[in-house]
Amino acid sequence: FEIKEKYKDCIIFFRLGDFYEMFFDDAKIASRELELVLTGRDCGLEERAPMCGIPYHASLGYISRLIAKGHKVAICEQVEEPGASKGIVKRDVIKVITPGTYVDNSNNENNSNTYLLAIYEENNTFGIALTDISTGEFKTTSFTSIKSTLFDEITKINPKEIIIDKNVTDKFINEISNYTQALLTKKDLSTFRITDDELKAQFSEAEVSNLDSISKIACKILLKYVYETQKMSLANINFLEKYDIINYMTIDGNSRRNLELTESIREKTKKGSLLWVMDKTCTSMGARVLRKWIDEPLISKVEIEKRLDAVEELYNSMQLNEDIRIALKDIYDIERIVGKIANGNVNGKDLVSLRTSLDKLPYIKETLSTCSSNLLNEYYEELDVLKDLKDLLFRAILDDPSIAIKEGNIIKDGFNSEIDELRSIKSGGKDFISKFEMEEKERTGIKGLKIGFNKVFGYYIEVPKGQISQVKPEFQYDRKQTISNCERYITPLLKEKENLILNAEERLNNLEYDVFCNIKEEVKKYISSLQKVSNYIAYYDVIQSFATVAEESNFVKPTINEEGIVEIIGGRHPVVESVIDGEYIDNDVILDGNTNILIITGPNMSGKSTYMREFGIIAILNQIGSYVPASKCNLPIFDKIFTRIGASDDLVGGESTFMVEMKESAYALLNATSNSLILFDELGRGTSTYDGMSLAGAIIDYIATKIKCKTLFSTHYHELTDMENKLPGIHNVHVSIDETDGDITFLHKVMDGPVDKSYGINVAKLANLPISVIDKANELLIEYENNDSKPHKKITQFQLDLDTKSDELRDYIKTINPLEVTPIEALVILDKIKKKSEE
Ligand code: ADP
Repeated sequence: FEIKEKYKDCIIFFRLGDFYEMFFDDAKIASRELELVLTGRDCGLEERAPMCGIPYHASLGYISRLIAKGHKVAICEQVEEPGASKGIVKRDVIKVITPGTYVDNSNNENNSNTYLLAIYEENNTFGIALTDISTGEFKTTSFTSIKSTLFDEITKINPKEIIIDKNVTDKFINEISNYTQALLTKKDLSTFRITDDELKAQFSEAEVSNLDSISKIACKILLKYVYETQKMSLANINFLEKYDIINYMTIDGNSRRNLELTESIREKTKKGSLLWVMDKTCTSMGARVLRKWIDEPLISKVEIEKRLDAVEELYNSMQLNEDIRIALKDIYDIERIVGKIANGNVNGKDLVSLRTSLDKLPYIKETLSTCSSNLLNEYYEELDVLKDLKDLLFRAILDDPSIAIKEGNIIKDGFNSEIDELRSIKSGGKDFISKFEMEEKERTGIKGLKIGFNKVFGYYIEVPKGQISQVKPEFQYDRKQTISNCERYITPLLKEKENLILNAEERLNNLEYDVFCNIKEEVKKYISSLQKVSNYIAYYDVIQSFATVAEESNFVKPTINEEGIVEIIGGRHPVVESVIDGEYIDNDVILDGNTNILIITGPNMSGKSTYMREFGIIAILNQIGSYVPASKCNLPIFDKIFTRIGASDDLVGGESTFMVEMKESAYALLNATSNSLILFDELGRGTSTYDGMSLAGAIIDYIATKIKCKTLFSTHYHELTDMENKLPGIHNVHVSIDETDGDITFLHKVMDGPVDKSYGINVAKLANLPISVIDKANELLIEYENNDSKPHKKITQFQLDLDTKSDELRDYIKTINPLEVTPIEALVILDKIKKKSEE
């Protein structure tokens, strides 16, 4: 009860012998989540205490299942030897495992980060700090802004757990849970933090003094939680990175999802995302950095071009690139091994992985030495091959050490003379035993005599039943055991030798453990150098991954202009291209310096949203410094991307598609600058035709006249294409189809100019709607198009045209009823309208 009181929000794993037991509510939760049998125990209370348990050696699997379900687990161990004090052996919590601090070491392929995030707010300024304790990454920033910036940042980081103030409103909790599935851990942030001195002990004084007061508090809160759960400070968290969100392209959470940058919308998996097609990294460290780069496109032309030039250099020497890939494949996850070194969990096998990796560094450095681009030169300068550490590990550790660190078989011969001596006694002892066996056979003449060993009385001499009569008193055989077909004896000489051998083994194991601990301490001194190595290997890996993708998928090096020109020739959507069965039709996106908006028309399924996503993705690839899927590409740098693509109903949040759409549009219009990119897909559906069309038209108007940023706007309302003639900077394109006898074929080719029809019914026919429905729809369409009291596209067009013109003309048109006039009369009316409009 005492312990539970201190760890109210955790399930307590209470160590009893070989089991972890859970009691009361913890037992109820755990038995349900882990499908364990719930038992009970009488403990003098009114109710029998509900309890359940798991064997301690199998605890990792159970813990990971509880963590995955959003629980926290406090591990409560015996902290003194049994009998050290009266009554129950003292126990205490030695570690708290939470979703944001859980390190899954069982899976070497685990190449994504587990982030823990702390959010602190003071007068509308947000300070955030994040860490991945398995890699030691620790970053902080602060910003004064509307909350959406915070939510965008959370979507980007994708943390597993967030520490927030216990007094936040329910509204805030509702809002935040729209953006993240992270476990929210509430603390009293007015007091929950470490001291200045503790912060300075973790990082350098310079790093700490570089912080503003708000991000500093966020860091202190985050570290407080790390200490509280890990019960120690971690040596791999030693570099405090201060970052600035305005150094990166702003991509709001919806756009990240819509463009499927790191996970697909439907399955929420990496497969089907941009990351998936771009990931040709050879190391886990590279894979993590690639994800970060995709999440944070740059906005500095210089920085982007540095990356592009480096990619170009490898792209132009594919043989070198291939050699680099082969070398990188031998490099283990140094960053995670460093994590284990820092928290003391490292074993012999990890150190062998580390030295294998270090062994590749000179070669990798050599490949860099042949490069001339700025970035690769910088990597060359910064990559330290850590020869001393590598030599130490090669000298000290066996090639195939045991995983257990207390059972010997770790240290190489020749590293420590005392170990060598004990080993020779141990193995010499074994030689002695077989020699002894031979000599005894000769001395006694007992042919069937054998030397054996068991745990109960050590080495013994075994004589088969049939030969017992040959055992003479002068042999000094002392009988120890009789079994069905033989007798077992010992002799003083045998026992003397045995002592030496068995002791040697135990002393050897202890000594190997001590020596291994010393090596661990020595390796600890290299933590920050190893982290640096790991970073540069990761960057190099991502650059080669870009070059590899460029080569395999036929990408091209983009150029960057400052005149607002978009010229993508033969652009492709890299993900769609890699998954469709048929041929991918490439398309151009052309916006000269004076054109900002493309209005895209074309039927459903023709490829409008693919075209828009393709543009968004090419813009992002350009700004992460990658080649792009096109045959030519010249782009400006975009500061922000906004998208409204596809239907992402927020039904859980209680908002209809239309409401979500309007909110997303509002957010884009309020935050876009002239350097932003807006992608609006079929805005204005979900309400009546006139309503929707008017809203869409007004939004285009606002972008064309106020924001003036690059925009792709797809629409069914072909009436909107008329805006090209009315406002500056607008151009029409359409996705072409082939129509023969009412049947349409999608060509997916984007061409100049508008379409004059929606083709909704033709598409419905393709979808196999009953033919009677299709026929009726065609009938109704003609009726609607001919009836001016109903939604009527031709009249609508007139109304748009004539709005600002003569009232008289409009009044005249209102008197016409097309259903009652003959074709001849219609021509006469048309003639009249023409004359009136000329007046
Ligand atoms: P829309 O937005 O016009 O309804 P989509 O962009 O969703 O259409 O495209 C519909 C389907 O057409 C896509 O799933 C894809 O399979 C195919 N498609 C789109 N663009 C192309 C293209 N350029 N080349 C080949 N197939 C394409």
